[in-house]
Amino acid sequence: MLRPAQPQNHCSFCGKSELHVNRLIAGPRNVFVCDECVQVFYELIQGEQRFSIHAQSAPARVSTGLTPRQIYQHLEQYVVGQARAKRALAVAVYNHYKRIEHKSRLVDVELGKSNVLLIGPTGSGKTLLAQTLARLLDVPFCIADATALTEAGYVGEDVESILSRLIHAADGDVARAQRGIVYIDEIDKIARKSADNPSITRDVSGEGVQQALLKIVEGSVVYVPPEGGRKHPQAEMLRVDTSDILFIAGGAFDGLSRIVAERIGASRPINLPNLKAQQPPPREEGAVLAQVTTRDLLKYGFIPELVGRFATLVVLEPLEQQALIDVLTRPRNALIKQYQRLLGLDGVELVFTQDALRAAADEALRLGTGARGLRAVVERTLLDVMYEVPSRRDIRRVVVDADAVLGRRPPHYYNHLGQPLSQVELGRAA
Ligand code: ADP
Repeated sequence: MLRPAQPQNHCSFCGKSELHVNRLIAGPRNVFVCDECVQVFYELIQGEQRFSIHAQSAPARVSTGLTPRQIYQHLEQYVVGQARAKRALAVAVYNHYKRIEHKSRLVDVELGKSNVLLIGPTGSGKTLLAQTLARLLDVPFCIADATALTEAGYVGEDVESILSRLIHAADGDVARAQRGIVYIDEIDKIARKSADNPSITRDVSGEGVQQALLKIVEGSVVYVPPEGGRKHPQAEMLRVDTSDILFIAGGAFDGLSRIVAERIGASRPINLPNLKAQQPPPREEGAVLAQVTTRDLLKYGFIPELVGRFATLVVLEPLEQQALIDVLTRPRNALIKQYQRLLGLDGVELVFTQDALRAAADEALRLGTGARGLRAVVERTLLDVMYEVPSRRDIRRVVVDADAVLGRRPPHYYNHLGQPLSQVELGRAA
């Protein structure tokens, strides 16, 4: 006699049946959770706890209680290489928040505010550093693109909009926003065009934007329209004091190394004769840029007042092959780890061979956009995998080699016995 099949229980989160997981834990009212989801939740909570501790101990104030070394160690978990930049930022951030704390206790001590300027090629981790710091400190964070900014009265985005965005990131809490971090991207693009810096195509209006930016960066009271703009003239403007906002600006600063080399060459003509007035070769560029001073930035086309507000200059290096491989595999949220977790939810193991990692790094180097290119390369490589796996219960392992990364051959698929699944089988199932 035929009996109806026993109904299977499923994980209420990922939907997998009890046959496809190791453990399925039952909760009340037919709720189940599988061992794989428990693992994902555990990692999620671990990641978040370190941020919420600060939030609990200091609702409106940012009391980091962290030493520069601890800040560095945290950055180390997410940002590959850039040791010098991480150190400089850890110290700058520590001093910034210490200054804020002291300000309320010792009225007679006036510690000058120092914003940070990150100089480094595209995809070297400038935005990532700023973002990671904001997450660690649990402060509101926003990114502004300097190229979108205009002088007051011109069509485009005015600088106050940056503060609106920060308030938005603080869920409307102006007090919290006043302790936030703003990352200003592509700051180099608002340099004044000059004979020293012909690579900049913007005209003198760059100076107007710099002036406008100075207003919020230097620490002043700015009136910001409420979210969604001021639809009614009588709508109240928000009063924002920017004194305690940390501004981190970043840019690639093409051509700056030539200005630095020129200065070094001029002062040390015997030691560095070949650097004078030349663009240094890429390998030496980092070493030359590491000696950048505010004078060089003035020559690059920045107004002295703005340069004065970015007293901490931090230089980042271009990421080379090994660093790019590390970006793919090492950080807590590394791209390949993310895909491995995602496929793990389908019970599939994802493996990248060493050759595949090298090929992906080389592809990214070829694109010339630093680590930014890695995502595109990995996404392109895994598109077919992500397409096949969900409808194929027999796939248990996927091995990506260099040929797969270069698009010459598909990745290798294996079943639960470790037997290769041929393309014919995969094709039939499709
Ligand atoms: P940029 O220097 O242009 O601001 P980003 O910080 O936006 O570069 O980097 C783009 C992406 O590349 C980041 O989201 C991150 O995934 C990766 N990345 C860049 N640099 C690093 C790095 N040093 N360590 C780890 N990941 C990095």
